[in-house]
Amino acid sequence: MESESAVSELAEPNLRRLLSTAGLDVEYVRAVGNTLFRKDANGREVPVLDYAAGYGALIFGHNHPEIVARARELLDEQIPVLAQFSSHPYANRLADELNRIIHRETGTTEPYYATFANSGAEGVEAAVKHAELDRVLSLSAHLDEAEESTRAARAAVEAGTATVPEGLRDSLGLGRPADGEQDIERLCGEIGRRNDERRNRPPVFLALESGFHGKLMGSVQLTHNPGYREPFTALGATTRFVPVGRPDVLKEVFEQERGVLLRLTVERGEVRVGEREHHTVCAFLLEPIQGEGGIHPLPRKFAEEIQAFSEETGCPLVIDEIQSGMGRTGTFLAGTHLGLRGDYYVLAKALGGGIAKAAVMLVRETRYRPEFELLHSSTFAKDSFSCYVALKVLDMLEAGGGEGYRLAEERGAALAAMLERVAAGFPDVVKEVRGRGLMLGFEFHDQCDAKDDALREAARSSLFGYVIAGHLLHRHAIRSFPTASAVHTLRFEPSVLLTDAEIDRLEEALTDVCGIVRDQSSQRLVLTS
Ligand code: PMP
Repeated sequence: MESESAVSELAEPNLRRLLSTAGLDVEYVRAVGNTLFRKDANGREVPVLDYAAGYGALIFGHNHPEIVARARELLDEQIPVLAQFSSHPYANRLADELNRIIHRETGTTEPYYATFANSGAEGVEAAVKHAELDRVLSLSAHLDEAEESTRAARAAVEAGTATVPEGLRDSLGLGRPADGEQDIERLCGEIGRRNDERRNRPPVFLALESGFHGKLMGSVQLTHNPGYREPFTALGATTRFVPVGRPDVLKEVFEQERGVLLRLTVERGEVRVGEREHHTVCAFLLEPIQGEGGIHPLPRKFAEEIQAFSEETGCPLVIDEIQSGMGRTGTFLAGTHLGLRGDYYVLAKALGGGIAKAAVMLVRETRYRPEFELLHSSTFAKDSFSCYVALKVLDMLEAGGGEGYRLAEERGAALAAMLERVAAGFPDVVKEVRGRGLMLGFEFHDQCDAKDDALREAARSSLFGYVIAGHLLHRHAIRSFPTASAVHTLRFEPSVLLTDAEIDRLEEALTDVCGIVRDQSSQRLVLTS
């Protein structure tokens, strides 16, 4: 690395400084397939092999000719891009197609209702909002029933057709009624008070440690990384984070949120206190493969435990397939490999084919609240252009009996084999290769105690991965990034068009990088060109 000052600048990260220090502040002027082009000092285009691929949004690469042709056609036809509050047959078609694919993969036949959005975080927030609406509406219905039953019991006592047995007050921990107060009044007051206390408890969300679900005000509460989340916790709902592989913690957290709703009933002329189980857990959000947390596939056993937990407790599962879905792992949903069945799914990134901003939240029929359609909307969501582009992407994935998925699996396996080969050559440098299909992570051993000053400084400032990315760019014309919350892990999420030659180029580049780290010789790093 060039200079002392570059190293000391790393200690105070902000985005602009980070980009320029790591040499990542280059402008790209054109993009096609797996290649981005930037201009050199003489104005000539320099191709850069793009393994970051729009943070996983480019399943068919940049400006795929078929997607671009479809977009041109749509504009030439002067389609009404924005015609809100009218019939949207294209959105219905997209929802139908998503249903058809998800049904085929998960084996369910239950329909999923679609709510469209413009970004992943927005899709997550739509799911969270819907889950909360569902929770609030069911809670209200249960409380109404309880009130109705309690009112009827009180009326029966007042009419003399029912009595309050000795000991019922004690069972609620109540003392004697005040002078002139009836037992029944006291009981009704206490039940109302306890039910109100349950009603007013704020919802709690469950999510996994190292999970990432977005950075908007609501979704950032569900993103584990404290650096992103903590300044904003006062602005949103509470999330309880569960470590991966710890069903015991999951149960413990759930126990803390459990309680009962009370009601009075009358049985054989006697008033009784009835209970209905109630909990304040609104939803459980998870990624089948944690992306920004460092490309960690969820262990199968834990996925099964989560699924069983959801079925036992009724806590809905929101499966965030924003990064892992859309065919990237060889199936449409990465959760399919784990037998996960979501009450909700969220898709974004590749849904827009690299040229549209599209996201969708899907909720299964038995959970769906039609009221949500009027409560939630966004000017640009569900626009015809994005829906048609998304339909085109689905067509391309499904063509030839699922050629897109097969390619993702086969190209992913070739890429993973190469990464494993490099890792095997540098076990002292590379900690692990993880992932599935075209969602792969390459983790370096922690360099916080590196002998080399610059590598150590970079690692201690959480910038190690960015510095490596800078070298890959300037020395090898390859673009890759560390994951957002695990900066020792480089991510590789290229398109299905990835060629063997492109894999070879990365092999050469990573071999060089691993050599530099092994030799602790940061002076060989190139961060400008
Ligand atoms: N969830 C996951 C799993 C993601 O990977 C991301 C983006 N990296 C998001 C949510 C947020 O999506 P967006 O950046 O489109 O808001």
